[in-house]
Amino acid sequence: MGRALFRNAMVLDGTGAPPFPGDVLVEGDRIAKIGPAAKLAPTSGADIIDCAGATLMPGLVEPHTHLSFLDAATPHAFSAMPPEEHLLHTLKHAKLYLDHGFTACFSAAATKPRLDVVVRNAIEAGDFPGPRLLAASVQLTVTGGVGDLREPHLDPGDAMYTRPCDGPIEFRKAAREACRDGVDILKIVPSGDTSTPAVPSGRTLMAEDEIAAVCDVARQHDRRVAAHARSAEAVKQCLRHGVEVIYHASYADDEARDMLEAQKERIFVAPALGVTYTRLHEFTNYGMPLSEQSRARIARDLDATVDCMRDLKRRGVRVLPGGDYGFLWNPHGRNARDLQYFVELLGFTPMEAIVAATKWGGEIMGLPGELGQLREGFLADLLLVDGDPLAEIGILQNRDRLISIMKGGVFHKPAPASRRHAGAQD
Ligand SMILES: [Zn+2]
Repeated sequence: MGRALFRNAMVLDGTGAPPFPGDVLVEGDRIAKIGPAAKLAPTSGADIIDCAGATLMPGLVEPHTHLSFLDAATPHAFSAMPPEEHLLHTLKHAKLYLDHGFTACFSAAATKPRLDVVVRNAIEAGDFPGPRLLAASVQLTVTGGVGDLREPHLDPGDAMYTRPCDGPIEFRKAAREACRDGVDILKIVPSGDTSTPAVPSGRTLMAEDEIAAVCDVARQHDRRVAAHARSAEAVKQCLRHGVEVIYHASYADDEARDMLEAQKERIFVAPALGVTYTRLHEFTNYGMPLSEQSRARIARDLDATVDCMRDLKRRGVRVLPGGDYGFLWNPHGRNARDLQYFVELLGFTPMEAIVAATKWGGEIMGLPGELGQLREGFLADLLLVDGDPLAEIGILQNRDRLISIMKGGVFHKPAPASRRHAGAQD
């Protein structure tokens, strides 16, 4: 069994408690012991890491991941890429997330039916580096909905980035096939979006019996449902039928917010601020055109989302940072920017943003008593950070400031040799 002793760390344990000087002993894939600094005796064979006051914290969790997005300008690229290359890119992104300190990812849709499943299995088998991954289906949308890129004069056969379904029977069949393929998460798109002027964010696109059908299949197969729901009605429909993860929730009205609050022990909200914020403020830096009309529409969506999230925070709903990275203007790897948006736009303290990205991250991963906190018995997903993220939340965006990264007791990034000592033998 592998053992590692982190000595003289500033332990930021993800519970919300203030950091304290401490030692953390890892045995196998778990945290075995946490004690006062320089007081834990090195166990036989343990590698000793001299933290010298660096921050030791739980690995970050990304609650709205699209590992098969391609940092592309438009989603057409997701359908156009053949599956062989697409798998390689998805594996490359999985490693990139771990390189940036994201030790767990909740997928918010794959762009081909089995991409997430295959990558999850390869990571679990230890064949490729990557975060813990909950694999999702492709987005189940409706004809003409977000992600339906088919054009009537072209063969629609391979437009696999989403799966357009119409009526509860088609949704049920698509959901069953995804369960058969081995997904953990069924992803539905019941509302419009900022990116699709023809079906704007405030519009509700799925019928309630279609949402009910997917939720019913999820219950039968013990899977979970996540929804892209920007309109108030979409949020309400999702909550009436047991959807557990609500993305965006931009235009949730008072009734929808009351429903979210009433179900706050069960549900999670992730607004995915980054994709909208960068679309508004950084899109043109990438040579992408943005009309005044589009700018106004995007600003409206962002303002509405910020207003709703501030209210949901007050109501005690778990609102998680992260989401929708993998576009040209919002590329993979920058995901920790979302913690900064939470501080600057939503009024989270840095501590609250970190708890949302770690403790609540463990909860959305379905491992509430095991992941996302530094506590004895918890899984050893750890980051050793050069500096104090409570004083400077932005340092989490800089992979060079991550001195060491551990997932499940195994170093993905070992500390430099100058900080490591071979374990004592007895
Ligand atoms: Zn998304």
